[in-house]
Parts: sequence; C-alpha cells; structure tokens
Amino acid sequence: MPFPDGAELAELHVHLGGSVDPAVMWEIAHAQGIRLPTKDYWRFVDLVTVTPKRKKTFEEYLSLFRWTELIQSSPIAIERSVYQTIAGAYRRNNITLMELRFNPMKRNRGGEQDLDHIMMAAVRGIDRASLEYPVKTGIIVCLDRTFTLKMNEVLLEKAAKFSSRGVVGIDIAGPPVDGFKYSDYRAIYRRARREGLGLTVHAGEDEGHSSVRDVIDHLQPDRIGHGVRATEDGKTMEMLEKSGAVLEVCPTSNLNTGVVRGMEEMRAVFQSLRRFRVGFTINTDGPEMLMTNLRKEMALLASEGVLKTEELARANAAAFRASFIE
Ligand SMILES: [Zn+2]
Repeated sequence: MPFPDGAELAELHVHLGGSVDPAVMWEIAHAQGIRLPTKDYWRFVDLVTVTPKRKKTFEEYLSLFRWTELIQSSPIAIERSVYQTIAGAYRRNNITLMELRFNPMKRNRGGEQDLDHIMMAAVRGIDRASLEYPVKTGIIVCLDRTFTLKMNEVLLEKAAKFSSRGVVGIDIAGPPVDGFKYSDYRAIYRRARREGLGLTVHAGEDEGHSSVRDVIDHLQPDRIGHGVRATEDGKTMEMLEKSGAVLEVCPTSNLNTGVVRGMEEMRAVFQSLRRFRVGFTINTDGPEMLMTNLRKEMALLASEGVLKTEELARANAAAFRASFIE
C-alpha cells in the first residue's frame, strides 16, 4: 500500500481557528448566543471555509479567522475546539503527534476574558482528548504582526508560564502590517529559547523571500511556517539550508490563497527544496477551513507527481523529528 495508508502521521502547522468542523463551530456559536451574520447553516459553512471554487485572496483568507476566533472566544469554546481538533485528526488521519497553534489574545473578547482561563481551557481540551486517543499534542502560542511589541511580550509570558502544561513553542502570524520588523522580535525569540520553547515563525508566504532571510538573521527559528517563497532566490535557499530550519509547507492553503499559483509552481517549489536539501514537512494550515486533511494533502502531492511515496514518508519522519514536543 502506498504511503500514507495506515501510517502514523505528524502534523506541525495547524491553526485552531481553521481546524474545527463547521458543524461544531455552529453549535458552539449557538450555545453561546453569538450573533452570526447569517441564520442559514450552509451560508455559515461558506463563511468559514475556502475551496478551489471559492478561492480567496490572502487577506480574505485571514479575515475568515475573525469569525472562528470570535466563536472560540471563551474557555468552554476553546476546550471543545481543542478536543474536537485532536479527536478528529486521530480518527480521520491517524495523526498521533500534533502541534496546534492559536493566539489566546484573539480569543479573550478584547480583554474581557482572562488569558489564563483561555490557556487552561486549551490544556483541558488536550487532557480530555488524551484520555480517549493516543495523540501527543503541544500548543504553539501565536504572536501577531498587528499587535504591539508589548502585547506580544505578554503572549510570550503566557507561553513560558504554560510551558510545563503543554505549550511547546511560539510563532508570529497575522496579516502584513506597515512598519512591522522581524528584527524587533530578537529579544522575545531569545527569551523564548531560554525558556526552552521551540521557535517557528510565518515567513515566505505572502511576503517574498527576503522575509525568510530576515527571520533567519534575526530570530534563528527551528522551523518556518510556509517559507515557500524562499525558493524564488538561490542565496536565500543557501542560507536556509545552512540554518537547518525546517519548513512547514501547507500546499492546499498556498494554492487557495494564490501564494503558489498552480501545480506547475508547486512542483518547482519542491524541486528547489530538494535541490538545496532544505528539510520540509507537509501540513494543512487549517483542515476544516480549507476543506482538506493531511492524508488528502499527501495524496494530492503524490497524484500530481510533486512528491514520490518515499519523499512523503521522509517528510512525515521529518515532522516527528522537528516536533517541539519532547
Ligand atoms: Zn499558518
């Protein structure tokens, strides 16, 4: 049987805001009395999902998270979302190692809810899932480009505080912002390293290859979220190879937001990764929002001749190795 049939899989790049079944999100929203822009379930599904037929620009894609983050903005909602994501990943894909990322400050209703409660709820969701399914799960706290440095420092504090309870790393996500500089985050990333946290960062997705150089120069991450645009430039690829950072590639996400324009370009991306011996893993970014899952991602890459069966198995092994979970 070709990989990944039956194999245990690891997934490292999953946003909680994109990973919960719309039916569950709908129930959570109603249980909390949240006013949604539609009373029709199927229109709600359209509102929180992307498909090749309903492609979105990168900005439109990120704006979908506004709804999912609002719905997930309570301890009860977070616990259920985390639990459902892990349970679904195991049942559907036999994922036995998962790193789940979210920004707790985008789920506290502008400060109305206590961040510690949100974090504890996520830990409870993991604990509940671990009683039922053999999945090792870690949380990555997402800092945000639209936040002030001070707010992001608070997020680092939370990540460090909960590092003994399942937080395994930090990330920077969110839409591009004028004046945002990776170099401003040197101290935060150094401190996170000292706290024993794993370091990843979104770069080389909507931004060009220079963002990948910036993060290597200033943040020395263990992994880079996406990073595919590094392949536009040979020098950047050499830097990347030397740094040892592993890419978290999310194929369907990149295709549906236009970051990678079609399968031809996808093939070129992986050819370049191969040529420069840059380590990579395969991920969904958010399986429910993008209406995919890790097995589908691998099947797509295999059927389009982007990666061979052995290469997919190697990418999966690389994900287990590059995980921040002990
Ligand atoms: Zn992402």
